[in-house]
Amino acid sequence: MTEQSEASDIDADVVVVGLGTMGSMALWRIARRRNLRVVGVEQYGLVHSHGSFTGESRVFRTAYHEGTRYVPLLLSARDIWHELEADSGRQLLLEVGTLTIGHAGEPAVENVLASIREYELPHQVFDAKELRSSYPQHSVGDDAMGVLDLYGGGMRPELSVFSAIESAAANGATVLDHETVLNVEADGSGVVVTTERRVIRAKRAVIAQGSWARRLNPDLAAVLTVQPLPLTWFMPHHLELFTPDRFPAFIRDEGPVHFFGAPSLDGYSVKVTPRRFHDPVADVDEVPKTISAEKLSEIGHLAQEFFPDLNPEPVHWSVHHDAFTADKVPVIDAGLDGRVLTLAGFSGHGFKLAPGVGEIAAQFVNDEESPLLASDYSLAAHLR
Ligand SMILES: Cc1cc2nc3c(=O)[nH]c(=O)nc-3n(C[C@H](O)[C@H](O)[C@H](O)COP(=O)(O)OP(=O)(O)OC[C@H]3O[C@@H](n4cnc5c(N)ncnc54)[C@H](O)[C@@H]3O)c2cc1C
Repeated sequence: MTEQSEASDIDADVVVVGLGTMGSMALWRIARRRNLRVVGVEQYGLVHSHGSFTGESRVFRTAYHEGTRYVPLLLSARDIWHELEADSGRQLLLEVGTLTIGHAGEPAVENVLASIREYELPHQVFDAKELRSSYPQHSVGDDAMGVLDLYGGGMRPELSVFSAIESAAANGATVLDHETVLNVEADGSGVVVTTERRVIRAKRAVIAQGSWARRLNPDLAAVLTVQPLPLTWFMPHHLELFTPDRFPAFIRDEGPVHFFGAPSLDGYSVKVTPRRFHDPVADVDEVPKTISAEKLSEIGHLAQEFFPDLNPEPVHWSVHHDAFTADKVPVIDAGLDGRVLTLAGFSGHGFKLAPGVGEIAAQFVNDEESPLLASDYSLAAHLR
């Protein structure tokens, strides 16, 4: 699968820069049509530990806190997730539901309910009493309400990226790893992509650099920040309450406190993760590697308040990162006279969307309309 040895120049139809979340999906969606020679380039090894896709699980949901506008893209992504599962023979999306717990009238809850109404999404609504009897893992106040998105659930991010790269390679994509792209520029009617080893000439490029995006494209520096994002896991006293058959993925808001997480996937811990609290950084290399002991203790005690069965000591934790735009709307932009598609700024909610975004990339390189592409995804709209 990996072509490592000779650094000979390559002619292709399409180059995909970055084989993390969006790049792996774009590579797969382009390769599966088998009409274009496509090359993917990744600076690290394949499915490495430095990207925004790491951390065991991601939450999938279609009744969307961020607004109803994303629902068509989410429903399309859901279908393509199932296609990748069929291609790879792996379960990538555990459709155990995603439970939103909040309060009537809150913008996130209202967006969830509006998504359900507008798109007739399968769901269940709970008052506080019903929440307590159906989901005793959660401790909730008397004014809480819950909405279970039945299309929601947990995703396996590392397995998903791995599966997309494998399927792309099986469909003829060339995959180059441990090779950093240094420059992308227009040349004649195509693009020249210069890596640390070679030159790749192609008709089009798709650039999906995640938190590294500001490095190749200085215009993105004006619209993207690199945001450190923590993850924490806790051990329950009763693991059987937190297995995928009993415990949906969840997002909870209570005043300033925000937790999200997924059922136990490792057989001993549950991911219960707080709101981001580190300041944004100028470059991905500056993402802090640590969380202070005081902060971990504070998170642990809050987690136990919300989930009384949890031991308050995080059994493991890590700090990740993602590129954010100010309004969390991604940048999907055709630049360099329509030769380069930039996919960036997925702002902490992009994983679930990735196969849909990959399909947009496949439409772009095939000169097709993308019905799911909104005009405010463009870089110009972000710069306004
Ligand atoms: C802790 C955390 C929790 C999250 N939770 C959720 C969730 O529950 N649900 C959800 O939908 N989303 C979630 N997200 C968001 C989602 O994971 C990200 O939006 C998504 O993974 C971003 O994908 P990306 O392709 O932009 O970046 P990445 O996946 O990081 O991919 C970028 C790739 O480009 C490569 N690259 C960069 N520069 C170069 C270069 N010059 N040459 C070659 N390769 C290069 C990188 O090495 C990397 O592999 C979460 C994110 C984090 C960090």
